Amino acid sequence: MTVPHYQQLIGGQWLDTDESYEIRSPADESLVATVAKASVADVDKAVAAANAAHNEGTWRRTPPADRAAVLEAAAASLGARAEELAALQSRENGATIRITAALHLGLAVAQLQYVAALTRGYQWEGPGPAIGPIPAEGVLRREPIGVVAAIVPWNIPLLTSVWKVAPALAAGNTVVLKPDEHAPLLPLELVKALDAAGLPAGVLNVVVGDGEPVGAHLVAHPDVRKVAFTGSTVVGKSILGASADTLKRVTLELGGKGPNIILDDADLDVAVDGALFACYANNGEACEAGTRLLIPASRKDEIVGRLVERGRTLVVGDPLDIATTVGPLITKEQQQRVLGYIESAKASGAKVVLGGGVPEGERFQKGNWVEPTIVTDVVNTDPIARDEVFGPVLVVLTYEDEAEAVAIANDTNYGLSAGVWSANEQRALDVARSLEAGMVYVNDWHVIHPEYPFGGFKQSGLGREGGPDSLDEYTEQKYISVNRSASLAERAFAIVVNPPVAV
Ligand code: NAD
Repeated sequence: MTVPHYQQLIGGQWLDTDESYEIRSPADESLVATVAKASVADVDKAVAAANAAHNEGTWRRTPPADRAAVLEAAAASLGARAEELAALQSRENGATIRITAALHLGLAVAQLQYVAALTRGYQWEGPGPAIGPIPAEGVLRREPIGVVAAIVPWNIPLLTSVWKVAPALAAGNTVVLKPDEHAPLLPLELVKALDAAGLPAGVLNVVVGDGEPVGAHLVAHPDVRKVAFTGSTVVGKSILGASADTLKRVTLELGGKGPNIILDDADLDVAVDGALFACYANNGEACEAGTRLLIPASRKDEIVGRLVERGRTLVVGDPLDIATTVGPLITKEQQQRVLGYIESAKASGAKVVLGGGVPEGERFQKGNWVEPTIVTDVVNTDPIARDEVFGPVLVVLTYEDEAEAVAIANDTNYGLSAGVWSANEQRALDVARSLEAGMVYVNDWHVIHPEYPFGGFKQSGLGREGGPDSLDEYTEQKYISVNRSASLAERAFAIVVNPPVAV
């Protein structure tokens, strides 16, 4: 069977490169597609094309409503192919079809539509407050920043691309998108849809290359004015450093170690399932997963018992099967890394009460499988409780009272997501207010919504994606003052005798 081949888009041309990536299914290692592999020279060409398109200016002068229409056309085209593309995503990165259909495709389409609506209603230019007492008038404007580099990971490639590319284009910027080399297909499909919707040449470019040297070269490029990145905290820090020299604008969506607190009055029928969903959705490869479960010490045996009982009902297997709840991990390296964390925790005295290894059976001989795993008898200083494991591993910690639960929850360098389960909504909200996280879920998890900001406190990132400020992150503010006084002398005099320092 022939597999599809994907090219890169530079300056309006779909082009091949000397080398290609083989994209293989993490479930059975079958070949899914081949993809043109970019070099550093391709990055230079893509940035040059984006910079030329920015300087030429057609796109930034296109009326916002017409820019919004391009996003809407892409949303319609992806939406019409949602089933096919969700299956492609599942084949490519192993996320289960129920997650790729709802989260990867459904949310990405909704996000494109939401950014289009924001674009139509945005205050691009308007009069500011009067500049008294001098007779001057102020104008407030939002302008595009210039060339935006968008770098995305393999775990939720389409949504993380849309979060950047949609507001960047809507605001009139030009873009170089660099998908992850392990899962570039859906970002490439997004670019195809936007390109077909009628972008001028060079406005949107895509190169698929290794993080080093291709991603790093893109970040360091002097003509790139903003970097929008989703990925690991370690790479995020290196991007912030590399952006300093040319003072690039930077948005970072990084890792997490989400604390999930079950309060002593929680409905366990809901909270236990919720804890498993919080951790294992997207195979545990989700930055905002709930990976540290905090439970009352007095109810440890009961809650762990119920977690194990429900955890045994999870279905590990073919990500394309609607019955499957946990699929394979992205690479062999990731599988070994996750298993390594479990082994180290065991060696330090932790107990593995569910899973802990590779599932048994012939179908798991190929691919990168790890069983849904629950680890207890851990303290919050253990590596498995501190580091982002990025696999189906739930760590259970105990607390004595609510104050200690909050203290443990906040005792982390991360601050992306958190959750609290309680029968008393006011109590849950009080706890939610004291958690250091950009997103807190009450009696729920993974409630990602286009109209709400996504992003983290502390070392989980910088800035937000999605939500009502989406366009602010991709625009520069400009203030223009227009002098209406008869003479400059009169204006200068007015400032001296009556300084405009209204408070
Ligand atoms: P990663 O940081 O290794 O790679 C992410 C992207 O950065 C890829 O495109 C990669 O090629 C590129 N890259 C790697 N090194 C680079 C460099 N030196 N310069 C420029 N680009 C470089 O992350 P990963 O392992 O692929 O993805 C998993 C990570 O992403 C996890 O830590 C997860 O928490 C995080 N993530 C965060 C969010 C969020 O919104 N906060 C969402 C999804 C994933």
